[in-house]
Parts: sequence; C-alpha cells; structure tokens
Amino acid sequence: MAKKIICESCGTVFPFEKAKDFTVCPVCNASFDDEENETSSIHDDELSFGDDIELSENDSFDEDKIDFWWYSIREPGEIWKGITFEDGNVSINCAKCGHFAGSAPYPIARTKDCLLIDPRFTIKCGHCGNELKNHIFSKRPADWVDPRKRDMWVKDYKNIPKCPICSSTKIHKISMTNKAASALVFGVLSAGHVSKTYKCDTCGAKF
Ligand SMILES: [Zn+2]
Ligand SMILES: [Zn+2]
Ligand SMILES: [Zn+2]
Repeated sequence: MAKKIICESCGTVFPFEKAKDFTVCPVCNASFDDEENETSSIHDDELSFGDDIELSENDSFDEDKIDFWWYSIREPGEIWKGITFEDGNVSINCAKCGHFAGSAPYPIARTKDCLLIDPRFTIKCGHCGNELKNHIFSKRPADWVDPRKRDMWVKDYKNIPKCPICSSTKIHKISMTNKAASALVFGVLSAGHVSKTYKCDTCGAKF
C-alpha cells in the first residue's frame, strides 16, 4: 500500500514520495512539523475498515486508484426539503475528471476519510465515462475546484487574444486612428485591413 501524508488541518492526502520533503501543506500552509514516520503510521491505521470487512480485488485506499470522491453524507432518516432519506446516501464527484457524479448508497463501512460502498453498486461518470471499480471513496480533496468553474476559466484563458503565428499573448491593439487611416486610404471598409485589430509584439504579425 502506498504511504500517504495527510494534512491534519485541511485533510488533503499527498503521496508520501511527493510530500516527504514538504515543510508546510501546499494547500492550506499548515506546518508539517510532525515526525514523518509517526504521521504515516497513524494514517496507515486509519486505512482499514477493520478485520470484519472483506474488500474486493479492486478496492484500494491508494489515491491513484480512487474512482470517486465523496463530499457529503446524508445519514439514514435524514429529512431534506421534506423528503426523508430512509437509507441515507452519499454525494460524490468523479475522481478522474472532478465533475459531480450524483449519489451512491450509504456506506457499509467507513473510516475518518474513506467510505466503503456496497460492491453491487455501479456507476459511471456521465462526464468522462470513468466507471466505478474501486468501491472505496476517499474524501474529496480540499483543493478540489468545481470543474464547471475550472472549465470557465480555461475558456476565458482560450479567449485571451493570442498571436496566431507564435501564440504570444504580448500583443497590442492597433490604434483606431491607424485603422481609420487605412479605411480612408482604401475608400471602403476593406475587411482585410479593418479586421486586423492586433499587432504581435513578439513576431510583429498583424491579425
Ligand atoms: Zn493542508
Ligand atoms: Zn469523470
Ligand atoms: Zn507573434
């Protein structure tokens, strides 16, 4: 089983190899002053549902093998907006693409951060097609970002005008007077000239 370091203040799980030299948590900046060996042995103990619980071959606490994260648990009998959730349930995110994936049945066993879901339960992420094989769900990382917001950000980034020749974002708008002048010279609003709005400061291309 891969060793983990878990930030005690925000709960983010780091692979031991990556985090062993961290002095502070890169997510919440909490200090990692604890003795490393001590920290990992404590958390190794947490990575078990007890001797009575038999895991299937795909069930793994290994962060790389987690298929789904949980982010909220509805206890059996909980009432939400007038609906009674007799059996409770768990709201989940796909751990591969981060998108919301609906809900899973109430766990049959749990540790502080991990849930074991009935092995008969199957689900497939509607966004990326990731299929549930590992019935251990780990807690959604503290640095999780709603991918809908992330996608928006990526879209925004894509919308930043870039030079089509060299991809530089160091470009500037050609001034209106220049554009007006070329329109004047050519007499008509020649699309070829007027549509060239930017000049690249890196390679000099106009577009
Ligand atoms: Zn942290
Ligand atoms: Zn997915
Ligand atoms: Zn350029």
